[in-house]
Amino acid sequence: MSENLPSKRVLVLNRLWQPVNIVGVRRAFSLLMQEHAQALDTSNGGFQMLDAAQWIEFSLANPPESDYDAIHTVKMRMRIPSVLLLREYDRVPNKEVKFNRRNIFERDDHTCQYCGHHFQERELNLDHVIPRDQGGRTTWENIVTSCIRCNTQKANRMPHQAGMRLLKKPARPKWQPFVSLAEEQDPEPDWQHFIAK
Ligand SMILES: [Zn+2]
Repeated sequence: MSENLPSKRVLVLNRLWQPVNIVGVRRAFSLLMQEHAQALDTSNGGFQMLDAAQWIEFSLANPPESDYDAIHTVKMRMRIPSVLLLREYDRVPNKEVKFNRRNIFERDDHTCQYCGHHFQERELNLDHVIPRDQGGRTTWENIVTSCIRCNTQKANRMPHQAGMRLLKKPARPKWQPFVSLAEEQDPEPDWQHFIAK
């Protein structure tokens, strides 16, 4: 799998078809390929559950329409599912979200928290809202996703010193079952069956 993965997010359902998490492309494929989850094919208006091998076949028969929907493997362009169904109830990935670069980008939806634009991962930086040399800490509450341009513009200043504003106050993500889903701003069309409005 290449490093520059699309920012598409994948809804994860438990065995009772309840939404339990939203994951990025890498985690989604790891769940699918390790047979922890099946992918949902809604293309025929129904819900077909496909395991990894069946999903590969499905991708060959129905090639992804855009790069947003595709990952490139050595052999093919594979379609990214919108919804996964966990095989085992106890594999609910709802434990505490790890504090790392990828998860901060995921929390912020790959969107620069200053200019509001969406970027590929390679075009993004992490920004200390309160700069480190002014006592800012490396925590969920003080680190945001920033594009390189905004990061450079802000430099070693507080946002207001640089004449910039945060889109929203950064916080520790609470990806617990059913909680954050209600606040989803930008759900994939296929999620509508599973997320209450
Ligand atoms: Zn920006």
